[in-house]
Amino acid sequence: WTGLEVKKQTNMFAIDLFFMKMVLQLCMSNLSKVFASLSEKVWIWIGVRSLRGSTARKTERDSCKGNIQTPIPTSVNYHFTRVCNYKCGFCFHTAKTSFVLPIEEAKKGLRLLKQSGMEKINFSGGEPFLHERGEFLGQLVQFCKQDLQLPSVSIVSNGSMIREKWFQRYGEYLDILAISCDSFNEETNSLIGRRQGKKSHLENIYKVQNWCKEYKVAFKINSVINTFNVGEDMRDCIRELNPVRWKVFQCLIIEGENAGENALREAEKFVISDQQFQDFLDRHSDMECLVPESNQKMRDSYLILDEYMRFLDCTGGRKDPSKSILDVGVENAIMFSGFDEKMFIKRGGKYTWSKADMKLEW
Ligand code: SF4
Repeated sequence: WTGLEVKKQTNMFAIDLFFMKMVLQLCMSNLSKVFASLSEKVWIWIGVRSLRGSTARKTERDSCKGNIQTPIPTSVNYHFTRVCNYKCGFCFHTAKTSFVLPIEEAKKGLRLLKQSGMEKINFSGGEPFLHERGEFLGQLVQFCKQDLQLPSVSIVSNGSMIREKWFQRYGEYLDILAISCDSFNEETNSLIGRRQGKKSHLENIYKVQNWCKEYKVAFKINSVINTFNVGEDMRDCIRELNPVRWKVFQCLIIEGENAGENALREAEKFVISDQQFQDFLDRHSDMECLVPESNQKMRDSYLILDEYMRFLDCTGGRKDPSKSILDVGVENAIMFSGFDEKMFIKRGGKYTWSKADMKLEW
């Protein structure tokens, strides 16, 4: 090679070296970025795992101390519809929507609740026998007893839409049927709004009580004590109907449902004082089946699920909804339920609720 050729080759070699160095630097910088992001992910993963571990250990520890943080949904009231054929003036679950979940979604939610510890489900409304003429309700009752094997399945109804055919198909899967009855005087029922047109509310009650006997379902009565019935003596009629439980509630005001601007009812004129409620209880003190529930006991001691399967928190005197258990799971939603587990136990929320355990004469 001549001197000129040697110089040319050396220059080319230097250029090649420069490019190689550039490529190498580029690779190194990309590699370090990849490593940085990887290590960040690993740290996050380790952090989340240890956080989860400590939360689980904390819950375990709290449970051991009897200080459970997440309430267990032992007994749940699922108001799957708000629609009703009655117009009770104090109703605190009014027809603000006509929505009802598709049955498969409802079953999915009920299965989630069972996995979280549910033992008792109560179907309520609105009037639960209205939707699909009671078929929707019947299928859920059967699902809860047969598939989920729940110890207790119950319904609260006004009794006006129940047919004997329903008992023939679904009676065996139902533990308790509670019928709402506030008065044994038809005129008082009319004043309250507890009837549809000219149909007799009381006739329905006696009919349903007979079917309960025939199809082996425990019969219960729920009464709301208010201005119009507070002076009544119901002892004879209650004895005659012989319910396993007679729940006696003090009329309750819930903002947005039966009081306030956007409410569909004005229940103020139905409200009675604590003393009036106590006088009613005293008059009926010899009724063994009577289970009293004052406003204080009632407000936070129920786990209420609305038509979207959202827990309703009544602690603020309103019904503030959580997110749906179908979207965030039971444990996340129940934290926003306002549920007072201690009050639930105190008000006797846990009782013999499976008909298999009741010593009933059918
Ligand atoms: S029967 Fe029940 S759901 Fe229907 S209007 Fe009366 S209180 Fe409300």
